[in-house]
Amino acid sequence: MNKPTVVSGIRPTGFLHLGNYFGAVQNFIKMQNDFSCYFFIADIHSLTTHPTPGNLQAGVRQVLAEYLACGIDPEKATIFIQSDVPEVSELYAFLNMNAYLGELERTTSFKDKARQQPDNVNAGLLTYPVLMAADIIIHKADFVPVGKDQEQNLEMARKFAKRFNRMYKTEVFPIPRPFTAGGGDMIKIPGLDGSGKMGKSEGNAINLVEDPKSIRKKVMRAVTDSGPTEMNQKKPEAIQNLFTLMDIVSTPDTVAHFDELYNKCEIRYGDLKKQLAEDIIAYTTPIRERILEIHGDDAYLAKVAKTGAEKARESAIKTLQEVKEVIGFKKLF
Ligand code: ATP
Ligand code: MG
Repeated sequence: MNKPTVVSGIRPTGFLHLGNYFGAVQNFIKMQNDFSCYFFIADIHSLTTHPTPGNLQAGVRQVLAEYLACGIDPEKATIFIQSDVPEVSELYAFLNMNAYLGELERTTSFKDKARQQPDNVNAGLLTYPVLMAADIIIHKADFVPVGKDQEQNLEMARKFAKRFNRMYKTEVFPIPRPFTAGGGDMIKIPGLDGSGKMGKSEGNAINLVEDPKSIRKKVMRAVTDSGPTEMNQKKPEAIQNLFTLMDIVSTPDTVAHFDELYNKCEIRYGDLKKQLAEDIIAYTTPIRERILEIHGDDAYLAKVAKTGAEKARESAIKTLQEVKEVIGFKKLF
């Protein structure tokens, strides 16, 4: 039996951070053994927020090295660069004809980005979910491992796939589903600035490649409050965020220890932050070392990208042919 197909990607607009890792890449690694996986670097998507990226190639290369350093294995998964597969852009054009202004304008990520960059509310930003849908369904994905911030965009991809099937009375596209490890909720890694999400554009990220000194500095600066005043009180968002991060990188004993101190109103945030910083460093150091090593290996990176592009195009060309036939494109001459 064929393995179910998985597709996901990350934009090369900065270094990979803990949000990308725990929200997406960690699932990529878990899935590569049992699924037919396509993991890409979304360089076309990055133009929606970075229309004239000084050095697009540097960003692409960085994410490629980071994917490999995290443990995505090119022998198991297809790793490729979005712009190496032009069929994706062609499918994007077709899907755009059946995507409506109202639904695109209502997307949370569009509204957020429009707020963040009021001078550049471009059509690419509006149709971001359409390109994302093309990325996913061109490989007939069954599952998409993404973080919670992408939940709505994935819902749009499902809608566009269903709509296509319905409009053209076909079953070309399977309906992609979110994948979360262990079947739990999709994960959202918070920022250290008291905000809901760690992100590249939020400017609040801890990167995988970050050196220990810089990690300590960022964690020690994390937003807190003046401390609990009642026993067992509910943690406000900024404090809960620190505990959420600790849940991920620290041992259960460590979390329980600080939780108890909090509940007894005896917590010293300085101690918690020191511990959190050291636990993040312990987690990221081996990854960081591998990133630095792989980043210098031109020949290896080039080989991975080339092989990945070939495999991804093979699958994309096949789907696109079916799509064109279904829509009604016929060779006249
Ligand atoms: P940008 O701020 O430019 O949108 P980003 O940091 O949000 O960048 P993306 O490239 O948009 O990163 O997202 C790549 C993947 O990482 C997606 O699957 C997304 O769900 C996941 N991701 C990003 N931030 C988080 C987060 N804080 N928690 C969980 N997953 C996240
Ligand atoms: Mg994002």
